[in-house]
Amino acid sequence: MINELNLKNVINNLSEMIAIDSTTGKEQKLAEWITDYLIDLGVRVKLQKVAGKRQNIYTICHFSDEGPFLTFNGHLDTIPVVDGWKTNPFQAELHKDCLFGLGSWDMKSGLAALLEVFRVLISNGEALKGTIAFSAVVDEEAYSLGAKALMQTEIANSDAIIIGEPWFGDKKRPIFSGSTGKLLYEVIAKGKAAHAFEPGKGISAIDDMVKFLNKLEKLPFKNHSLFGKGNQCVLKVAGGFKQYSLLVPEECTAIINRLTVPGESAEEVLDKIKTIALDNRLPSRFKIRRIDPSYEPYILSKEEPIFLKFINAYQRVLHRLPNFAYHRMITDANIYTGLARIPTLIFGPEGNSIHMANECVYLNSLKAVLKIYLLTALNFLSPDTEFE
Ligand SMILES: [Zn+2]
Repeated sequence: MINELNLKNVINNLSEMIAIDSTTGKEQKLAEWITDYLIDLGVRVKLQKVAGKRQNIYTICHFSDEGPFLTFNGHLDTIPVVDGWKTNPFQAELHKDCLFGLGSWDMKSGLAALLEVFRVLISNGEALKGTIAFSAVVDEEAYSLGAKALMQTEIANSDAIIIGEPWFGDKKRPIFSGSTGKLLYEVIAKGKAAHAFEPGKGISAIDDMVKFLNKLEKLPFKNHSLFGKGNQCVLKVAGGFKQYSLLVPEECTAIINRLTVPGESAEEVLDKIKTIALDNRLPSRFKIRRIDPSYEPYILSKEEPIFLKFINAYQRVLHRLPNFAYHRMITDANIYTGLARIPTLIFGPEGNSIHMANECVYLNSLKAVLKIYLLTALNFLSPDTEFE
């Protein structure tokens, strides 16, 4: 079956996908391209409306009634074009082993590779047990609206998910054993307006917000043995007059990002933060609420079947073990694993300049990734069968 993998297919598809602008918010054309590709493979594609015209796509193939359910997944969107590109970001260009283009690494190469492996798997369906799905979602680079919506579909029944994000498992980009979460919240202080020459007659929401933020800075962070401590960053503070006037500010708003580690629930953290406003008896009225996007942290055991199968496949192809690490960042796996509790493997090719100009993917790594995806899926779907 491994001989049926065709790198040329992947490069052609990847080049076509790079030529489609799918920056966040504009994913629809790429969704249509993948839909057409899947329909040509003879499968039924489902489209899921997420926001406006933006749609997730997925297809599910059952090989047998019983058996494991594995889902391939990726995001359709890319970051916008930034300054400094030496080539046309919407035209794939090959220089030696590197294929350049916006999204070439993050993550149209992962999508193209998963599509190719999906094609090979469904054309050999009679040898397989269980269920395989392919899914592609919108909005990963922003609010993860697509991943959240996908968990409202049958894909939520998956036993494991493979995301083709560019983590090759080398020392530079180790596989996720877990990830931090994040809590985004808004604090609104309501004071009382008065003439600014008589500030004592009013309640300054800005003064109270400053006191609140100073206290917040002193709040200790929980130490996690694998992740270390969380942290926080005040992203925005706004308050005071809209049009110049001598007024004691009656309202002030702050938006704060809080990195969380496993064991810290969003509710627990918010409750602690709320006590600061109460304990300090600040005269302003405080309203504190969680806003989007917030994500749950997670840890995955290497004993999860998907990891065991992956490690075996990785070793067979690359003759070494993959590196694993606990990451301080957010991906759609925070939705699939952190929220929906589905073990998720993040693995994809090597490349350069992620979220930068002159992004490229290394084709040699893509070749290995194809084989590893296929072997992992075969190990997972039909563990007792030897495949050539
Ligand atoms: Zn990505």
